[in-house]
Amino acid sequence: MTDNGAANGSDKNPAARRGSNFFSEDDAIGNLIRMLSRLPGLGRRSATRLALRLLTDREGGLEPLVRALSEASESVRLCGECGNLDVRDPCGICLDNERDTGLLCVVEGVDDLWALERSGVFHGRYHVLGGTLSALDGRDPGSLSVDGLRRRARAEVREVILALSATVEGQTTAHYVADLLRDVCEVTVLGQGLPVGGSPNYLDDGTLFAAFRSRSLLSGGAGL
Ligand SMILES: [Zn+2]
Repeated sequence: MTDNGAANGSDKNPAARRGSNFFSEDDAIGNLIRMLSRLPGLGRRSATRLALRLLTDREGGLEPLVRALSEASESVRLCGECGNLDVRDPCGICLDNERDTGLLCVVEGVDDLWALERSGVFHGRYHVLGGTLSALDGRDPGSLSVDGLRRRARAEVREVILALSATVEGQTTAHYVADLLRDVCEVTVLGQGLPVGGSPNYLDDGTLFAAFRSRSLLSGGAGL
């Protein structure tokens, strides 16, 4: 099977007319390939290979995957407090009494939260903003969970740590949040180690640890 029938160029060949869509998107195989090819990092060719692998190993591949997807779809939800994904709401992190409730780490997405949790460098709680501000892409404060952040920061938080990406949008967002919480608590940003354009979920544990240790004050606190 070739992955690109259109390259053969013959209009008399139905497969060639359909290009790489060897299967109709209306049938089960074509639909599976189409859905898999929407996943990040999977092109049509990889999606086709994966579909074939799953379909030829039903017991070891396809059926456990179907069960896992179904279970995740039914049980995983957004935590109403922090925006994490978990099978509980509030999530396990928000319910963990061993954590320092005075520290709140603000991240752009759940991927950053999970990366920080995996590294074990932070033992407070989190707040998922849901992105960054971007005038260019029409993302204003209303598209981020800033109201929830302000409410939580007022509760018992002494320091909000901004673990946002080192991009123009990330820095714009950091300054917006720092202004928003100026009269509420200290707001700090991660220090050394975060390369330009990088986000926390790309950093190794040692660099994350150094970035947390060297964080600097952005607003709030004495004299600011
Ligand atoms: Zn939570």
